[in-house]
Amino acid sequence: SGRLSGKHALLTAAGAGIGRATALAFAQAGASVLATDIDGDALASLAAEHPSITTQVLDVTDPAAIAALVGTAGSIDVLFNCAGYVHAGTILETDEASWKRSFSINVDSMFHLCKAVLPGMLERGGGSIVNMSSVASSIKGVPNRFAYSATKAAVIGLTRSIAADFVARGVRCNAICPGTVKTPSLEQRVRALGGDQEAAWRSFTDRQPMGRLGRPEEIAALALYLASDEASFTTGTIHVVDGGWSN
Ligand code: NAD
Repeated sequence: SGRLSGKHALLTAAGAGIGRATALAFAQAGASVLATDIDGDALASLAAEHPSITTQVLDVTDPAAIAALVGTAGSIDVLFNCAGYVHAGTILETDEASWKRSFSINVDSMFHLCKAVLPGMLERGGGSIVNMSSVASSIKGVPNRFAYSATKAAVIGLTRSIAADFVARGVRCNAICPGTVKTPSLEQRVRALGGDQEAAWRSFTDRQPMGRLGRPEEIAALALYLASDEASFTTGTIHVVDGGWSN
């Protein structure tokens, strides 16, 4: 039997990148997976990869859609809040709309999802919430990630607070802080920079002490551990997985 056998897991942003790798890792570990994303085509191709994955379109910025989804999802043992949006720029390059959009996708989404899922977890006496933060947060000041880092620091506060409030009632809540991981959104950001693509990739890999970017599967392995009962003594912790970038 697998490390997540018998568990029901809900994931956001499971269509691509880290969320997709994690949905597959959860399913391979024996979980029943409800994978959500804003992109229905990406979900269809994910569902085709494993019979334990069912999918539903969910925009995490829509609180009514979150309430409706959780209301019909049945029991949820594991929640992986993976959706996130990277705004690039200093404070001077961040307008109010970008600031608000960053908080809406990266933080408000977790407020609504945790709040919707927690009562069921408490009723059943347990659950594991895993929230996606980043090294670019309260851990490390990273240039041109002003709004993003503010939101990911908020994720850390939200995570530790939930962990403290429900530690005696069986619900664990932990955060993951990756360094730079090669995913479709990073590829888009490199393309958006324009110019010399090879130099753009070098600028991302040069800041990595290991000389390479992370792989989505290397983050999924940590999410799987935190979701599973192997991590039953672990809550309120902030897990850095960054190839030594912040060391
Ligand atoms: P990705 O671009 O590979 O995948 C993002 C997915 O999110 C896509 O499938 C997209 O359709 C979906 N999405 C976008 N807006 C959405 C919305 N409103 N509602 C639901 N889904 C939506 O992303 P990734 O690089 O794997 O990043 C996943 C998470 O990991 C994010 O929270 C990101 O901030 C965090 N993270 C990534 C890195 C990195 O280097 N890639 C580093 C640290 C943290």
